[in-house]
Amino acid sequence: MSMLGEAGGRRSKLVVEVTLGQGSEVKLRGQIDETADLVKLTKGLRNPVRFDLEGVDFINSLGVRAWVHMLRTLKSLGLQASARRCSEAMVTQMNMVWETRLPVESFYTSYLCEACGLLAKICLEVAEHEGKLYAGEAPELACTRCGTQMLLDEFPERYLLFLTEPRRLAAQQAAKKS
Ligand SMILES: [Zn+2]
Repeated sequence: MSMLGEAGGRRSKLVVEVTLGQGSEVKLRGQIDETADLVKLTKGLRNPVRFDLEGVDFINSLGVRAWVHMLRTLKSLGLQASARRCSEAMVTQMNMVWETRLPVESFYTSYLCEACGLLAKICLEVAEHEGKLYAGEAPELACTRCGTQMLLDEFPERYLLFLTEPRRLAAQQAAKKS
């Protein structure tokens, strides 16, 4: 079953597409701001809930509040949430506000080839590059145009904080307990 709707009525710049199967696939596209009623979309979802965030190109501070409220609602309903194809806008937000974080399967970032000038938007699979990513390092990728090794067009330690910090904190907690 697939439903196409707007979370938050006519004025909302967010398009929501929910597909229910074993779990729920929730595809968001557009802007998350004060007009987005994200809690409304949690109704009727099946566990686990997987967000596709590729199309989210903007989130403002009120949108952040709505997003955090939604994550808390999912938790209180006993639903597990994860995200794939997180846009750069969402990664930036997850790096700044830890309450917006959720387990991430894949995310977008930009790579630059200094040899030929190609700027490529690339979706990185976390499982595929786990070792590097959790160490706060960018995986090595070859330029699709000239084959030269490209560089992450961000400070890796800053851009990958949403992955490295939760793991570091969890390790600290575990060390305290033992
Ligand atoms: Zn190149």
